[in-house]
Amino acid sequence: MTLEKLHALFLEHPIICTDTRKIEENCMFFALKGPNFNGNAFAKDALGKGAAYAIIDEEEHRTSEKTILVNDVLETLQQLSTFHRNRNKAKIISLTGSNGKTTTKELINAVISKKYRTIATQGNLNNHIGVPLTLLSIKEDTEMAIVEMGANHKREIAHLCQIAQPDFGYITNFGKAHLEGFGGVEGVIQGKSELYDYLTSHDKYVFMNADDPIQREKLATYTKKIGFSTSDRTYYNIAFVEANPYVVLEAEGLRMESQLIGKYNFTNCCAAVLMGKYFNVPLEDIKAAIESYQPKNNRSQIMDKNGYKIILDAYNANPTSMKAALENFHAMDAPDKIMIIGDMFELGPTAAEEHQGIADLAEQLNFEQVYLVGENFFGVDTPFQKFKSFADFKEFLTHQPIKKGTLLIKGSRGMALERVLENL
Ligand code: ATP
Ligand code: MG
Repeated sequence: MTLEKLHALFLEHPIICTDTRKIEENCMFFALKGPNFNGNAFAKDALGKGAAYAIIDEEEHRTSEKTILVNDVLETLQQLSTFHRNRNKAKIISLTGSNGKTTTKELINAVISKKYRTIATQGNLNNHIGVPLTLLSIKEDTEMAIVEMGANHKREIAHLCQIAQPDFGYITNFGKAHLEGFGGVEGVIQGKSELYDYLTSHDKYVFMNADDPIQREKLATYTKKIGFSTSDRTYYNIAFVEANPYVVLEAEGLRMESQLIGKYNFTNCCAAVLMGKYFNVPLEDIKAAIESYQPKNNRSQIMDKNGYKIILDAYNANPTSMKAALENFHAMDAPDKIMIIGDMFELGPTAAEEHQGIADLAEQLNFEQVYLVGENFFGVDTPFQKFKSFADFKEFLTHQPIKKGTLLIKGSRGMALERVLENL
C-alpha cells in the first residue's frame, strides 16, 4: 500500500493504537515490536476489539482484508508521520537537551497556545515512536506543534529530525545524562547538537541560550539565531530575579513569578518567553502563561506533609541536575534542611566517581543531615548515612523517623524515591 493510501485511511481513522490493552474503537493498530513482545501476534486481538485496521509486518498474521502488510511497521509509522507532517501547515518547534525538555516543552506550549492552536508531545513520549505519534496528532487547523525529542545515544536526534523536519529548535542544556550511551560528555554535546545541525543545514531558525558557552560556540557563525541572555545586549534580555524557592524573572521590566523551583528552571522559562516574543504573543499573555504553569509528575514539586516541607524532585536525576538541586537547596532560605538522595543511573564507568562527587558536594555545602540511598551511593566514602537499597532505608525509618524539617528528595526514576512520602 502506498503512503498516500495509508494516509487517506489514517485521516478517516485518526486514532493510532500500539497496545491492545488500550484499543479504541475504529483506531489503526500498529503492530510494533518491542524487546519482550511482537505486536504482530496481537493484530487479530486488536481487530477483535474494534480496531479498523491492523498494520503488520509478518505475513502469517494476515487474517482479513483489515490487516495491512508492510515491510516494517515502525518505519511505516515514522514515514506516515512525516507524510502527515508535510500535508499540514503546522510549524514544528522541536526541543532536546539533557535536562528540562518536558518542563520547557510545557512552558512553551502554555505560552504559544495563548495565541495559536497548538499540539504538543503528550507527557514524555519523546522517542522514535513518541515523536511520530506526536506528529500524527497534528490536526488540520493546528498552527504550531511543540515536539520533545529524547535520546540516549548518538544519531538518534538526527533520525528524529529526519522524521519531524522541525522548522525551529531549542536545546535546553548539555549535561551529564545518559553518559553511558553517548560515551561521555563530548558525545552528549555532539548528540544533542544534531538538532542544531539539522536546522542550520536546512537554513532554519534556531533558538538559543546565548549565555551557554557551548551553544554560543556551536552557533558562532550562524546568522539565523534568536537568543536570550541575562547580559549580552545583542540578544533578548531577561533578568534573573530570584529562586527562593520559586523562580522569578523579568523581561522588559515586567516581573514574572513562576511556580517552578530550582534556578535551572530560569533558563527553561526564558526559552518559553523568548519564543512567545518571537511569535508575537503579547508580553502580558506570556507572563500569565509562565505564572500559571504548574510542574507535574514529581518534577520539583513543593508539598507539605505531616509537618514536613518537601521538595519532591524524584522524577529523575543525573550528575548535572543533582548538582543543581543541591546548590539550589543550599541557597534556599529554609529551616532544618534534610536531604534524601538516591542513585543516578546510566552513568557507565564514571558511576563511582560521579556518586562520590555528589556526596562530597553535600559535605562541602555543609549539609548535616543527608541520607544516601542505592547501591552506588552505598559504595562512596562519606560521613553520611547510606543504605544499599530502598528497602534498607525504609526499614531504618521505622526505628528512626526523620526529624521535622525541609526535605529535598531526588534520585533517578528507577529509585522511585517518591515512596519516601509513604514512610514519613
Ligand atoms: P527526560 O529525559 O526524562 O525526558 P526531561 O529532559 O524532559 O527529562 P524534565 O522532565 O523537564 O526533563 O525535568 C526533569 C528534572 O531535570 C527536573 O525535575 C529537574 O531536576 C531537572 N532540570 C530541569 N531543567 C533543568 C535544566 N535546565 N538544567 C538542569 N537540570 C534541569
Ligand atoms: Mg521529558
